Amino acid sequence: MDLLERWVLLQVDLGSFDSKASVYNFALKMTFRAVLLAFVFNLAVLPLGYALGLVPLSLADAIKLSVACSWLFGGAVSGALALVTGQVIRDLSLSRAEFERLSRTDMLSGLFNRRAFNEVLAETDSGGSLAILDLDRFKAVNDSHGHCVGDAVIQAVAEILREVFGEPHLVARLGGEEFGVVVRGAGVAQRIGLVERARNLIEARAIRCEGATVNITISAGMSEFSAGRRPGSVYSAADRALYRAKANGRNRIVHEAEEGSLVLPEEPAVVSERSGALFFEDGPAPAAG
Ligand code: GH3
Ligand code: MG
Ligand code: MG
Repeated sequence: MDLLERWVLLQVDLGSFDSKASVYNFALKMTFRAVLLAFVFNLAVLPLGYALGLVPLSLADAIKLSVACSWLFGGAVSGALALVTGQVIRDLSLSRAEFERLSRTDMLSGLFNRRAFNEVLAETDSGGSLAILDLDRFKAVNDSHGHCVGDAVIQAVAEILREVFGEPHLVARLGGEEFGVVVRGAGVAQRIGLVERARNLIEARAIRCEGATVNITISAGMSEFSAGRRPGSVYSAADRALYRAKANGRNRIVHEAEEGSLVLPEEPAVVSERSGALFFEDGPAPAAG
């Protein structure tokens, strides 16, 4: 049974069903194989039937008839079946791909969701920073303008983050008014600089919705990925830094390096002309150089 199953699977070349052409291709291949199989079977069985006197035709006529029947019935039926099967498999693989996309997408912002973010977090081991961003005093936006305007603010912030963090970075909405960014490449200072750029753009944007104009700011905590460091530890370090950014007055970025527990591979530089936006342990970041 196992052997037969394997043989059938070998004959049914499923391949990929990413286009209509691939479905037709599958149907044609299956038709041809079914006809060939029927023909070989007839060739093997007909002489036996003929020898036993079961075939009331000459052997040549019987073979001709069997070829015609193979094409007419076997070919048509197996072709139609393969076409339907191919179409069903194509529909299923499209819905599966869509389901997988949706299961990794945040519906409100269109960004990746926490699930996708966690997967990337687990795979990232060095050469990048983690930034956790949280809208400042967002509850007040909901309270004074309503939930709908609050949603529009989340969407506007998501749009800015998408603009700033294209490839090779990853930006996700972790839930509520909190976002996570895996900032990749370049040096630590440049990565902080990118988050600072997002902070600046968000602060400068007047978000208009339902007659209201909302100005919002973000606070961010950042930490570094490094070989051998667990993703959970990178996440908690960024979360602690975010907590300090809030405690230090909000609308700023705090990097874990200010705790002194992390030795950066390079000296972080001031990344914004706006002094005070990037804080290190004892006050604003030191001058570049
Ligand atoms: P902080 O600066 O300390 O972060 O203050 P905050 O007001 O932003 O933080 P808090 O945690 O007190 O409030 C977050 C609010 O975000 C509360 C909740 O109603 C709102 N919120 C969470 N998810 C959504 C959402 O999907 N849409 C909207 N409109 N509001 C949301
Ligand atoms: Mg908040
Ligand atoms: Mg929050």
